[in-house]
Amino acid sequence: MNDKLNKRIIEDKLSHVKYKSDKNSHIIVDEMVCEKCTTKECLYVCPARVYSEVDGKIKVEYENCLECGVCKISCPKGAITWSYPESGYGVVYKYS
Ligand code: SF4
Ligand code: SF4
Repeated sequence: MNDKLNKRIIEDKLSHVKYKSDKNSHIIVDEMVCEKCTTKECLYVCPARVYSEVDGKIKVEYENCLECGVCKISCPKGAITWSYPESGYGVVYKYS
């Protein structure tokens, strides 16, 4: 399967979810640790592209999180503090 098709499948799946965003992030990164990180796995493993790098800093768009937990186990430095959003917030999966 080529990258273009993969991207389309992921985007199609993402169109079937909706979010209710909390004003507080449920994902916190340790900026001091991230600054020294050379591999930056978080930028590549997240299916929702929550992580990006802006001016050398890791930006976290937690509102788009699918709550899969992959980023937390992928960070080699343990720099991600991740918890489920408060009750009533976060992703809602639609099955129709
Ligand atoms: S992989 Fe971990 S330490 Fe590296 S930039 Fe991402 S969150 Fe920070
Ligand atoms: S839990 Fe999953 S969707 Fe949410 S930020 Fe981490 S990798 Fe991305």
